[in-house]
Amino acid sequence: MIRRKQVCIIGAGVSGLAAAKAFAARGHQITIIERSGDLGGVWEPARSYPEVQTQSPKDLYRYTDKAMPDSYPEWPKGPQVHAYLTEYAKDNNLLGAIRFNTAVLQMDRRPDAKPGWRLDLRGPDGSTSHADFDFVAVCTGQFNEPQTLSLSGEDAFTAQGGRIMHSSRYNDPEIAKGRRIVVLGGSKSATDIAVNAVNAGATEVTLVYREPVWRIPYFIGGLVNFKRILYIRAQEEMFKSWGIGAMSRFAHAVAKPLVWANWRGLESLLKVQLKLGKCDMVPKERIEDGVNCSVPIATPGFFPMVADGRIKAIRGSFARYDGNSILMTGGQRVQADVAVLAIGYKLGVPFLPQAYREKLVDPDGQYRLYRLIANPDLPEMGFVGFNSSFFSREFWSSSISPNVSGRNGSSHRSWLPICARRYWAVCYTASITAPAMRSTGLAAAPTRCRNRCGGRANSCMQTPRSRSNSRSLPRPQA
Ligand SMILES: Cc1cc2nc3c(=O)[nH]c(=O)nc-3n(C[C@H](O)[C@H](O)[C@H](O)COP(=O)(O)OP(=O)(O)OC[C@H]3O[C@@H](n4cnc5c(N)ncnc54)[C@H](O)[C@@H]3O)c2cc1C
Repeated sequence: MIRRKQVCIIGAGVSGLAAAKAFAARGHQITIIERSGDLGGVWEPARSYPEVQTQSPKDLYRYTDKAMPDSYPEWPKGPQVHAYLTEYAKDNNLLGAIRFNTAVLQMDRRPDAKPGWRLDLRGPDGSTSHADFDFVAVCTGQFNEPQTLSLSGEDAFTAQGGRIMHSSRYNDPEIAKGRRIVVLGGSKSATDIAVNAVNAGATEVTLVYREPVWRIPYFIGGLVNFKRILYIRAQEEMFKSWGIGAMSRFAHAVAKPLVWANWRGLESLLKVQLKLGKCDMVPKERIEDGVNCSVPIATPGFFPMVADGRIKAIRGSFARYDGNSILMTGGQRVQADVAVLAIGYKLGVPFLPQAYREKLVDPDGQYRLYRLIANPDLPEMGFVGFNSSFFSREFWSSSISPNVSGRNGSSHRSWLPICARRYWAVCYTASITAPAMRSTGLAAAPTRCRNRCGGRANSCMQTPRSRSNSRSLPRPQA
């Protein structure tokens, strides 16, 4: 029998809406706390940069029970995604459950000793209050707390009229018009903003980036939608997934030359199509190593603009500001009116008490979440959206909500499936044995998974199948 619970969902983005629907469908009383004035999270218009569009095709970037409208293009624009999410919230009667302009400041265990959490909230008028919940779903996304970069000379730079802003603040092309724009970063948002600045009439656009990475054009060879090449089983099968049997290992060994030729062919095609040689932007790493976790889509127009000089690309980083210029680590000096820092976001759950944060996040920043949804040391709490796939957000929402409904609602760990508890035991054992094995040379040091999945390259917490899927999926680099 389901015991109706008070469930709080923090965040009204893609993940929060999926979680809210899943909990409501199982009869729970839901409250969605959203600190912005609108839903959509990264797709909220005030937070998006101009011309933002999805990297995923629309038939993949959608909820399973609601297709995007036929009138939408293959890669919908930001306002279209926002409209779609609003419709989804309306269809599922979620709008009334959202408390907009309300931020979770911090949370702690309930003072009445019942299972659950007390949340400290700041409301639209700035006043603070608290509310108790039986369960909390954290759906705050990975693109919320901008990274900061503080360099010497920035006060003088801004004092003489220069502007320094995080990429999330670049939401109007007027910012670039008639100005010298310098974008720091090599991610998708950096190249999107550089192209937007050129189109908006910036007098000079410079992109400062560390290393070139492989990028996939929306149409490979200018003709074929990338999903027809990368989102197919054959491509996926080129990676050895976990726990494969002897026959599969044999097949991989036999096919190795073909797989190698496939990747070299794709690299050659991309070099020609994107003119990477002319742009001096040929990546050093092999594409199969880069595609392993994350390949950003090439912003249309970016490489042609680098090739013909409309965007000046410099390798390195900012060293310091000097008057109205920025000095680069390679010694170059670039005059600037606006510095756009496309340097990503901080991960973390800042409103959790420190003691719980330590249980959630490893010292090296990795999340300790079983299948990215739960940590047995954080009772009555679930996480949705701590990786980067639309489907998984809906899937995880459906996974946590029935477990919350269990008969023994008071148990801290009981709602976790048995496999989760076993997994935890394995992790615990591994956390003790692995450092010892590494120090004795029996195991290699872990390399980080670059798909922000929260795992390590060789122990990614996604299932073997979804892990191997993820290898070929282009992911956002915000
Ligand atoms: C430019 C861009 C393009 C992208 N394109 C794709 C794509 O093509 N395909 C793909 O799979 N993914 C893409 N992504 C990734 C995208 O982040 C996810 O697909 C998804 O939208 C994330 O949803 P979310 O609900 O998990 O997080 P968010 O959208 O970040 O929503 C989190 C919400 O939580 C709220 N919140 C945070 N902290 C608090 C607090 N303390 N109190 C109250 N509310 C709080 C925020 O205001 C926000 O509304 C893209 C991301 C960006 C930035």
